[in-house]
Amino acid sequence: MTADAAVLTADDSAPAAVDGSGGSGDDRRVGLAALLPYLRAHRGTLAVVGALSLAGAAASLAQPLLTRSVLDGLSASRGVAGLVATLVALVLAGAALGGVRDYLLQRTAEGVVLGTRRRLAGHLLRLPIAEYDRRRTGDLLSRVGSDTTLLRAVVTSGLFEVVTGAVMVLGAAGAMVLLDPVLFGVTLLGVAGGIAIAVAFARRVRGLARAAQERIGEMTSAVERAISAARTIRAARAERREADSIGVSATQAYAAGLRVARVQAFVGPASSVTIQGAFLLVLGVGGARVAAGAITVGDLVAFIMFLFFLVLPLGQAVHAYTQLQTGLGALQRIEEVLAVPAEGAADRPAGTPVRALPGGAPASVEFDRVGFGYPGGPPVLREVSFTVPAGTRTALVGPSGAGKSTLLALVERFYEVTEGALRLDGVDVRDLPRDALRARIGYVEQSAPVLAGTLRENLLISAPDVTEARLRAVLGEVNLGHLAERAPDGLDVQVGEGGVLLSGGERQRLAIARALLAEPPVLLLDEPTSNLDARNEAALRRAIDAVAARRTLLIVAHRLSTVVDADQIVVLDGGRVAATGTHDELTGTSPLYRELATHQLLVS
Ligand code: ATP
Repeated sequence: MTADAAVLTADDSAPAAVDGSGGSGDDRRVGLAALLPYLRAHRGTLAVVGALSLAGAAASLAQPLLTRSVLDGLSASRGVAGLVATLVALVLAGAALGGVRDYLLQRTAEGVVLGTRRRLAGHLLRLPIAEYDRRRTGDLLSRVGSDTTLLRAVVTSGLFEVVTGAVMVLGAAGAMVLLDPVLFGVTLLGVAGGIAIAVAFARRVRGLARAAQERIGEMTSAVERAISAARTIRAARAERREADSIGVSATQAYAAGLRVARVQAFVGPASSVTIQGAFLLVLGVGGARVAAGAITVGDLVAFIMFLFFLVLPLGQAVHAYTQLQTGLGALQRIEEVLAVPAEGAADRPAGTPVRALPGGAPASVEFDRVGFGYPGGPPVLREVSFTVPAGTRTALVGPSGAGKSTLLALVERFYEVTEGALRLDGVDVRDLPRDALRARIGYVEQSAPVLAGTLRENLLISAPDVTEARLRAVLGEVNLGHLAERAPDGLDVQVGEGGVLLSGGERQRLAIARALLAEPPVLLLDEPTSNLDARNEAALRRAIDAVAARRTLLIVAHRLSTVVDADQIVVLDGGRVAATGTHDELTGTSPLYRELATHQLLVS
């Protein structure tokens, strides 16, 4: 093994420490051992690659010895045709083995990238919702895209150049010792200097490379922010400012890349200068030893060929080491996300038994002195108590920021209640596997309830097996039948990024249709705050009526007109229940409700 590789193993073999703290931009360092799980699936191919490398190394190492025999044979006027033919065959075989090895290696590297992307994407989709709140989307995107790409170099030029280089170096060094130990001692002096320089500087590369990847993450976030709000930015004539801010991130990424390049630029030439020095030294000392009769010309030529085999892999190993450090920097960012515990479909507090949920009939939802605050934030809900009886409609109203959407998020268990209890049909939601809980609940969020893709894809998210006829029937129920009819593609018409090709009202009704298709006993509906025109509002009301008929409905209402006939209205104010009752009761008893109603011209 090379000195380089020895240093790597000694320093970096500690398993990646996973603190399970939820991970952030911490400085947990990952070592070579962290790569092993990524390589495990490819160990068969890697074994073949290893065998090919050994065979290739043997073919190469035999060449100087054959050359020496050819030269010695020529000086002794012996026939060398057979030796020359063997030499040519060895060169060709070595090249062919190298080609196959490189292809297999590239294939493995692509496989590692593919496996990592799949694992990372799967994990990203299962992160706790609070993680999305605190992380930037662009940064997560760049971990899946750009960081995983760097792993490819770790496998190809990194890991394998170090390992196969080590074989060549060991073989060449052994042969050189046998040929002339004195000359080998001279060689070592020069080569050791090169290695020392390379190792000292290449170790800096990992930290710098990670910083560079982080700047790329920031730049991707800036691009994502600008493109996702393209209309707002265009309307605010803020294109130049946003482009400048992306430019700042891009410049920082450039500067970070340059810092890596500077170290690499120093390491390469510095080590090659020392290695060239070693060559000159060997030529000088070797020439003197030939003149003195200590070795033959054939010995010296073979020694110099071995010196090539020694320094070429060493040069590659220096490059590979920096590649490895770059890749480990990226791996650190990947591992950091993977270390965040996934939400887990079935997680419950340890020791609690799985509670079965009663069948598919409408279920009741009960808030019992519920308190909640977002991680690190002040309390948002306090002592919230009310029950939505099974099969009835309850509306949540109140000023902006009162905590209405948060209540719905708690029912879905996007976050856990911090005080009190939330029960579905009498069962504490924390005692239910999340999957089972969510299978009983339909949820229509307030903003961006439509995904890029086709109408059909949007509908099938929650119920992949429903029939075409049912899809059309539900679309009709929410007054969207025209969407599929007016487009030549029918249900396969594109809805655009975030449903931008639909109107605001159509987006919301499409989201309701999607929730309806899963036929959930409980439906949580966060009404859009944007103003809908009278026709759209009437269509939304009809859709809600259709929904409410067969299930328990908890609806956050911004338009009182959509809730006047609710069985119960809960008025939230500052995270507390200010009043509960029907529309008629509340107009008499709740000043806040009366004020809301007055604003919307429902009462005078
Ligand atoms: P609106 O009618 O404007 O939609 P709301 O009554 O639905 O408001 P919530 O969205 O539940 O109010 O927000 C309640 C409080 O919690 C607000 O002060 C808000 O700033 C805060 N909040 C909401 N979401 C988060 C979050 N993901 N992380 C931290 N704080 C949040």
